[in-house]
Amino acid sequence: MMSNISGRISRRHLLRVSSALGAAIATPSQLLAKTETSIQGAGPLPARSEFVIRHASIITMDPTLGDIADGDIHVRNGSIVAIGRNLQAPGAKVIDARNMIAMPGMIDTHWHMWGSVARNMAGEDSKTGYFLFARAVGDVFTPEDNARGVRLSLAEAIHGGITTVHNWSHNLPKPAFADAELAAHQAFGARALFGYGYAGVGMVDQPINLADLERVQSRWISKSEGLTTLGICSRGPESNNMDICKREWELARKLGLRISTHMGTSAARVKLREGVKALSANGLLGPDVILVHDTNTSLDDIDLVAKSKTYVSMSPYTEMRTGFGIPPLLQMLDKGVSIALSIDTTVLAGNADMFAIMKAMQNVADGTKPSEFAITPRKVLELATIEGARALGVDDRVGSLKPGKRADIVLVRTDDLNMGPVNDPVRMIVQSAQPSNVDTTIIDGRILKRGGKLINVDTRKLMADASETMTRVRAGVEKVLREGGVSVVR
Ligand SMILES: [Zn+2]
Repeated sequence: MMSNISGRISRRHLLRVSSALGAAIATPSQLLAKTETSIQGAGPLPARSEFVIRHASIITMDPTLGDIADGDIHVRNGSIVAIGRNLQAPGAKVIDARNMIAMPGMIDTHWHMWGSVARNMAGEDSKTGYFLFARAVGDVFTPEDNARGVRLSLAEAIHGGITTVHNWSHNLPKPAFADAELAAHQAFGARALFGYGYAGVGMVDQPINLADLERVQSRWISKSEGLTTLGICSRGPESNNMDICKREWELARKLGLRISTHMGTSAARVKLREGVKALSANGLLGPDVILVHDTNTSLDDIDLVAKSKTYVSMSPYTEMRTGFGIPPLLQMLDKGVSIALSIDTTVLAGNADMFAIMKAMQNVADGTKPSEFAITPRKVLELATIEGARALGVDDRVGSLKPGKRADIVLVRTDDLNMGPVNDPVRMIVQSAQPSNVDTTIIDGRILKRGGKLINVDTRKLMADASETMTRVRAGVEKVLREGGVSVVR
């Protein structure tokens, strides 16, 4: 999400925000016993063992391999070594996947993960709504608070079969915040594009901390065993002047980094800044760029996006929830734009359910056409898997199941009440599945969820930490007010 509010936050407004926080933290955090398993809520990552998944209904999302009924997947050293029927894999541990669908791990392409400790905290009017809230809360967060949001998000991702995230990190007032978030990524073992963003929500004409990128690359990214890649998240032409955009793009391209920015969140903003046209005119669109939302667009702008092979990330729940509009899915697909899917923020989306996002996109397409046949569930599943991988530049490693790719695999139970009886596996995944149906999540060959349980994550610790943060933040927000308030401008 990006800020769309202007003016200064008054003391009264922030008191209403903190009052909303007070109501929302009335969760039974006190009832959660403190546990001793680890400081971060995650134990040591499990080793990458050799195993073979047997008797699964496999959706490979690979055009050559297709779907395989009663198939096997052999994994060794984090890689897929073979896919087929009756594979020989002597010595490999067997995972019985009868009554399960095996599919590529799903890929999120835009998620403000730090905010997950503030899930559902956005109020119902402009004085307590998301943008004011995010700015105020972000101002009083510590690096550890950011990290708690990222940990909670990563646990929810793994639980729900999302194996790659784009951490669109836009509350980085100091390098220590990036370090805290990246330490969480390292501890949880999920694949990620870490999008180094700006100091806080709701400001203008300020570049991201370009001087910190190479430090992060060498301290974290180069030591992540290929699990974490680096990108930048810019305020972009709708909030920054073009000189800043050019500087950010120039360094990112020199370092070979993905670039992402919010775009087209309101018709007024598009009219005022003409962001897509400005990027195009300055050579700043391209296959290394992910525009987020772009719900308010025109056929001319869609042409520019399509011709430049720029990606668009759509987050239907937050786009509709916050009034950005209905995702222009069919208009963009018709013009050949590559679309990927995203959570955005659980402050507004409520949860990180990529199955629900797929179903929403199918329904958006059918409902806006209108036609029962506007889009196939398989196409929607592509957006959540291989297209997401392409958008993040990791399709050589993940996004589909085939020998040689890294083993990011999800097993989904087909005999749960909301799933059966067994029918077309792709329809089951897009139209019926929920995170609770995910039996097993494997990332880079590590089994991180099995039998419906997270392996090395202490969820009670994550919840207790998140509740502690919100209790303290409430007081912090009031203090910010007493000291003069927070500017939130366009
Ligand atoms: Zn966003």
